[in-house]
Parts: sequence; structure tokens; C-alpha cells
Amino acid sequence: MVADGHSPMKYDVAVVGAGPAGAWTAYVLASRGARVVLADPSHPREKPCGGGVTGRALALVRPSLALDRLPAVSIRTARFIDTPTAKTARVPLDGGTLTGALVVASRTEFDGLLLAAATRAGAVLVPARVTNIEIEHGGFRLDTADGKAQRVGWVIGADGANSLVRRRLARPFRRDQLSIATGFFARGISSDEIVLELVGDPPGYLWSFPRPDHLAIGICSAADAGVTAGALRARVAEWIRVTGIASGAPLEPYSWPIPSLSPRDFGTLEVAGHGWVLVGDAAGLVDPITREGIFFALQSGAFAAETLASGCSRPERCYRDRVQAQIASDLARAARIKAGFFRRRFTRLLIDAVGKSPRIQAVMADLIAGRQSYRGLKWRLARTLEAGLLWRMMTEKP
Ligand SMILES: Cc1cc2nc3c(=O)[nH]c(=O)nc-3n(C[C@H](O)[C@H](O)[C@H](O)COP(=O)(O)OP(=O)(O)OC[C@H]3O[C@@H](n4cnc5c(N)ncnc54)[C@H](O)[C@@H]3O)c2cc1C
Repeated sequence: MVADGHSPMKYDVAVVGAGPAGAWTAYVLASRGARVVLADPSHPREKPCGGGVTGRALALVRPSLALDRLPAVSIRTARFIDTPTAKTARVPLDGGTLTGALVVASRTEFDGLLLAAATRAGAVLVPARVTNIEIEHGGFRLDTADGKAQRVGWVIGADGANSLVRRRLARPFRRDQLSIATGFFARGISSDEIVLELVGDPPGYLWSFPRPDHLAIGICSAADAGVTAGALRARVAEWIRVTGIASGAPLEPYSWPIPSLSPRDFGTLEVAGHGWVLVGDAAGLVDPITREGIFFALQSGAFAAETLASGCSRPERCYRDRVQAQIASDLARAARIKAGFFRRRFTRLLIDAVGKSPRIQAVMADLIAGRQSYRGLKWRLARTLEAGLLWRMMTEKP
């Protein structure tokens, strides 16, 4: 490819960041014959994350990945707890295999498998940080920390919540568009149960997700809720003490931002422009209630790659429309009911309902597995008496 008579381009597309979004975009593009360069200096690495990979995310990658080689825990139950009242309720999940509702994996392993698939398909990994992006001669010049530069026609920003591509070609997330997630990896301990506690102040939840040889324990809360990461982490430490969940295991702290957009933000997403596309966290595609982001990273990566490979005459518009219709509209529904989810009265009622009703257990299992859209949630809940009440509590004004 030659742009405007200047030096020939070695690659058609540069993907910045090789997390799930970037590695999967690179895999799909390279499999379709595009010349792809993938820049990320971090592998192999752990990413601050629960590491929960839902059934729908697994289904997306299963045809292309050797998932049987992924060291992961298949989750059998989700335990909801309420420490102030000492109440507990369990939701059975169809765990036990890598086809179940939810598996939990180390991100070193999961992202490593995706990256290996991308390079096997022909994407070229440049293990260097992208330090600058300039629009140049009808394409882009990317400078990397190893002192080299790449000239390409297309740039995919898959560089996470602090995306440089987003900052250079669109605009950074505002503080009110981010959550802080912080907590600890508890080494040398595991389980086949996730533990969740919904909390009202600041609104969010505490979790413990078991990987094969450690637990990822944490809390997330709006970044503008007036609580520091240090105070949130102290709360996690106290939760670990009260619940006894990590029973003396060594704790290793982590903190990381997660995009958490409002209904309005989801309606006006800035995810593509002339020659560039944002995918995954860089695009803000995270469920604002569950904070599931891995599935949307994979899905938006596939959409971006398919759009570029499709020959669509306005790729940025094709991609934006597809993301809006198939991802953002449902996430906007989640954002609309989010406040109610973490209200104290709702969480108490939820634990009681989960404890009593197999139908509510089934709804919660499907939400955790990503099988229940927010679009259909209201009608499904409305079909049971307790759930009708739950729905009113979730949507009533404070
Ligand atoms: C504490 C926590 C818990 C979470 N738990 C879950 C969960 O259980 N399940 C779930 O589905 N989601 C969870 N999420 C969300 C999930 O982690 C993200 O949505 C997901 O990782 C997004 O993937 P991504 O590829 O878009 O970005 P990332 O995974 O963040 O990958 C971005 C990559 O870009 C690279 N990069 C950044 N800047 C540059 C640069 N300038 N040049 C080159 N490379 C660069 C980074 O090294 C990184 O490898 C959680 C998030 C947090 C913070």
C-alpha cells in the first residue's frame, strides 16, 4: 500500500494494545489477509481484573482458541452476601466445564492465548509502547518507545481505559465516566465459588473471583464518588477480615480504572473517525452494572475487523452504527437502572428473593453469564411476584 506517493506502507493496520480487544481485532484482521502490526510492550503480564470470562465471551473465541489449554476455574455457584445483616444466598451456575456460565482465569493466561492466536494468524507483534500518533500523508505515523515509527492507513485504539489513541484522535474519558476498581490478589488459595456483596455507599460492589491459584478480590465505585482508591482498598481489607474469605493468604494490591458511561454517553459514543477506530475499554464498552468488559472487548474487536475487511465505503460509520445497535443500546439500559441496583433496600430484597425463588436464581445466573439482556430483563422479572417488586425498586426514583 502506498499513501499519496510517499514511502510504501509495510502494514495496512496498526493495532495499539494487545489486551482482549486488540489481540482479537488483530487475529480477525490477519486471518482475513490484512497486514497487521500489533504494538504492546506488556506481555506476558497480569492485568488488574476479576478475570471472569462469561459463557458468551467463551463462545465467541472457542472456534479459534485451544480453550482446553486455558488454566481456569469453572464457577459452580455465585454467593451473594450482606455483611450488615449476615444474610447469604446462593445462585447455582452451570459450572464444571469450559462451556459453563462463567470461568475465571488469570489475564496472563487468557490474554496470552489470544495474543498467540493473533501472531499465528500473521499479525506482527512490536513489543514497544506507542508514544505518539500523527496524522500524516493521508494515513498515520505511530512513534514507538524503541525509537522506530510505523506508517499505516488505519489505527485501531485497543489501549484500554487510559487510551493514547483516544486522547490523540478523540477525547479522554472525563472523571465522571470512570470507575475505580481496587483490591488485592490473595495468593495460594482458590475455590469454585464467586462471592458478591452489593454496597450502597459509594454505590458499587465487592467481589471475590477465584483463579486456579489465587483469588482476585476487589471493589469498584464511581471515580467521582469522593472516595479515594486508598479508602476503597481499606474497605476491601476489612471485608476480607470480616468474611474470612482469604484466610491469611498474602495480599498483593492493585488499582485500575474502568470506563463506566451514562445513558447519554452511550447514546453519543465517539468510537470512530476517518482512519481510526476505538475498541474495548478505549471505546467505553463496559457493562456499567456488572463491569463485564472482556466480552465487549472481543465483540467490538470482531466488529472493527469485519468492518474494515468488508469493503464498506464509510467504515467508521458502519462500525459506529453496529456498535450502537448491538452493544451500546443495551449498555445504556444497564446505565439507566444502575443506581437502583446498589440501593440498600434493593440489595436486601434481592438476597431474600434469591434465597427463596429458583426463578430469580435463574435470572441472576443468566445475568452473570451474560445470557440475559437488559432489554428483556424487565419482562422476565415482571413474570414473578417478588421480581415485579424488585423491578419497581430498581427503577423507582430515590
Ligand atoms: C479490577 C477490575 C476487575 C474487572 N473484572 C472483570 C471481569 O471479571 N470480567 C470482565 O469481563 N471484565 C472485567 N473487568 C474489565 C476488563 O478488565 C476490561 O474491560 C478488559 O480488560 C478490556 O480489554 P481491552 O483489551 O479493551 O483493554 P485492556 O485489557 O486494558 O488492554 C489494553 C492493552 O493496551 C496496552 N497499552 C496501553 N497503552 C499502550 C500504548 N500506548 N502502546 C501500546 N500498548 C498499550 C496495555 O499494555 C494492555 O495490554 C475488570 C476491570 C477491572 C479494572
